[in-house]
Amino acid sequence: MNGEDVRGEDRPAPGDRSDGGGGGGGGMRLAREREELCEIGRRMVETGLVLGTSGNISVRRGDLVAVSPGGVALDRLTPAGCPVLDLSGTVLEGTRKPSSETPMHLAIYESTGAAAVVHTHSQYAVVVSSTMSELPPIHYNALLLGGLIRVAPYATYGTPELAAHVRAALEGKQAALMANHGAVAVGAGLEQALEGASLLEWLCAVYVQAKMIGEPHILTDEELIAVIERAARG
Ligand code: 13P
Ligand code: ZN
Repeated sequence: MNGEDVRGEDRPAPGDRSDGGGGGGGGMRLAREREELCEIGRRMVETGLVLGTSGNISVRRGDLVAVSPGGVALDRLTPAGCPVLDLSGTVLEGTRKPSSETPMHLAIYESTGAAAVVHTHSQYAVVVSSTMSELPPIHYNALLLGGLIRVAPYATYGTPELAAHVRAALEGKQAALMANHGAVAVGAGLEQALEGASLLEWLCAVYVQAKMIGEPHILTDEELIAVIERAARG
């Protein structure tokens, strides 16, 4: 499943264009964003947030999206191998096929103001998403992601059903869990989306470990409102 694509890294995909149209000046489209995908992908593997070819990432600029290719380990991305798509999913550039979760990434861009999406199979996210229907706010930093985190119902990876479930679970939030699958976080850029995915993994780990020694206190609405008021005072 999701095995490494055997096509040569430098062989153009059908319809590949390297005339830079839309990027101005004849260079690669979204060149900076595709570099950033490579850098963030490396960090996700280095920090243990993803293993092998699990997970995928994308970044949007204007009407274009650069996404990680399907079946390639995130620490082995190359800028040329990262496809550039329009918002309808048409591939405009890139030597590899887009991630199987591209429908989910595009659904998120359609319904949120996010400029980047990070999807992981991080360990504690999978533990929590396989056993619970939501992750309650166990720590006030959950507010950075919108407080309580919903678990999107299970659907096969790469399907429009999964994309629709995740889109709904993200409403008003910066992150969601995906039942028996993983996590997704969004942000104004890849750095922020990665921070969100790391924070969600930490919150899941804290929750699971707290459950091992007792019944954790979940922050009440009053306690969360007090945090929001405290933060507003600076
Ligand atoms: P891709 O390699 O196609 O991005 O798939 C990995 C994944 O996480 C599927 O949900
Ligand atoms: Zn996945």
